[in-house]
Amino acid sequence: MVAQLNLVEGKMQYVYDENGRRYLDAFGGIATVSCGHCHPDVVEAIVNQTRLLQHTTVLYLNHNVVDFGEALAAKMPGELKVVFFTNSGTEANELALMMARLYTGCHDIISIRNGYHGNATSTMGVTAQFYHKFNVVQTGVHHVLNPDPYRGVFGLDGAKYANDVQDIINHGTCGHVAGFVAEAIQGVGGVIELAPGYLPAVYSIIKKAGGVFIADEVQSGFGRTGSHFWGFEAHGIVPDIVTLAKGIGNGAPIGAVVTTPEIAKVLKYAYYFSTFGGNPVCAAAGLAVLNVIEKDKLQQNAYVVGSYLKDRLNSLMEKHEIIGDVRGRGMLLGVELVKDRKLKTPVKDENMQILEQMKDMGVLVGKGGFYGNVLRITPPLCFNKEDADFLVDVMDYTMSKM
Ligand code: PMP
Repeated sequence: MVAQLNLVEGKMQYVYDENGRRYLDAFGGIATVSCGHCHPDVVEAIVNQTRLLQHTTVLYLNHNVVDFGEALAAKMPGELKVVFFTNSGTEANELALMMARLYTGCHDIISIRNGYHGNATSTMGVTAQFYHKFNVVQTGVHHVLNPDPYRGVFGLDGAKYANDVQDIINHGTCGHVAGFVAEAIQGVGGVIELAPGYLPAVYSIIKKAGGVFIADEVQSGFGRTGSHFWGFEAHGIVPDIVTLAKGIGNGAPIGAVVTTPEIAKVLKYAYYFSTFGGNPVCAAAGLAVLNVIEKDKLQQNAYVVGSYLKDRLNSLMEKHEIIGDVRGRGMLLGVELVKDRKLKTPVKDENMQILEQMKDMGVLVGKGGFYGNVLRITPPLCFNKEDADFLVDVMDYTMSKM
């Protein structure tokens, strides 16, 4: 969340408010825009398709939907070749959880504390932050220890956190589970990278318990982490189901679930459809996004500029005691603010002060984390080195003035 700002226009890494003031957008990239605000290729694809035909995906066929489905599947490893389109990340995760339950015949799902997966009934269940949960029945979900290298009880020891998953299966279920869902890097939770070795260890535990592995790539997908196209690839695992949204359409409302033909078969017993999920206009946008990522070399840019930006943020740590941790990959970065580095006491109001002052100087960064004390830096992937310098200089100046 960034302080109130009424935006009227966007152009690549910049947005403009109602008074014509320009801001460098180092946050909105995650919310929707992977390629850059109103990237001309994506706009053109949307406008052309809107002029040609807009309709539901349910009643008639359209080649855009198939073309985009095939292009997405081509980016996935292994047997992940069947694509279902939805309108959002929440819907994608709801569908993934239902498929896991139907496929395994089990109900229990395991998710990680501090994760965010959506705000409908099942997804709110697997989400594990109280301020994203309403008081409705949320059954069959177990939240395991967060393998958080900074605040977690076992530090960087991924295998120890994975033992908690086995404990939960042993003591909280019949020994079999429907599945496990996780983000490769927790986004809303404050850009938390999972401790090394955690996901591969959990993968084999879940497989032994008969469950499927769901990778929520809503934030970490589409090249954002720089080193890989999908966040899970950095952990050396191939999930059974992958869920996508946000940057997939560069602002067009679309989500997707990608899975194997074998798991996909569970949807044949009833008619699954979404009236507008993957409609021709959004599918055209999605296809244009994949082309732009390739053409503008956005994954490479996320890697090069993201690494540079992270280095510069790390060097700010030497100067400002308030920075407790700098983390993330590519253009999915977080700066955790603390009152005391040893005790890791989260700051209370300073984060909003910093956000506001940076905004006044023309740079937008986000806020997140369980304590709300993490600055989230998730720009459009076209962010360049000068933008990175400007952001860090503004942050440096703002922190110096506190
Ligand atoms: N998964 C993750 C990792 C997310 O960050 C979000 C949105 N913040 C969602 C799922 C839900 O997506 P949507 O808001 O499109 O429903």
